[in-house]
Amino acid sequence: MIKVLVSACLLGQRVRYDGNAAATASDHLVRWTQESRIVPFCPEVEGGLSIPRLPAEIEPGATAEEVLAGSTRILRSDGVDVTEAYLRGARRAVEAALAAGVRLAVLKDRSPSCGVTSVHDGSFRGQITPGQGVTAALLEQHGIRCFSELQIEQAAAHLRALEADRPQTPSTPGPAIHLPPHAR
Ligand code: SF4
Repeated sequence: MIKVLVSACLLGQRVRYDGNAAATASDHLVRWTQESRIVPFCPEVEGGLSIPRLPAEIEPGATAEEVLAGSTRILRSDGVDVTEAYLRGARRAVEAALAAGVRLAVLKDRSPSCGVTSVHDGSFRGQITPGQGVTAALLEQHGIRCFSELQIEQAAAHLRALEADRPQTPSTPGPAIHLPPHAR
């Protein structure tokens, strides 16, 4: 069965930086849960960060790909560099996804980890800019298509297409995870 990795906060888990959840009502999420298709995951908690924690944002003008490449950082609101924890969480998300047979993900938008279409702009003023979080970017680099919580219909359509195309053979191991040495 094709699995779907889902941001834990969207499933009602209180793992967000402020200790809250971001529960999202969706018939697809309910059905996927009943089918045991969902892999819940919070990359920030799995990366070693606490609940609650200070908010963090990718540096202004930079992209998730640049964070993954080691050329820019993720900073906490007090200026502390928390890049390593975010990269650790991204790598663990990919490891969990590949081990479970995940082919797509539904992630909480605007997060420096899970953002799919937009993230905060690094100013800590609540401003949003187009871009991805580091976990979404690394999942996509490993062939796992990511959708935001506002794109669950598209995710469901993508899953149907994958199921329709799926060969009736045992699954094979996924590709190796590629990260710069500082992120390991
Ligand atoms: Fe939700 Fe992702 Fe933030 Fe965890 S890292 S709280 S799953 S948006």
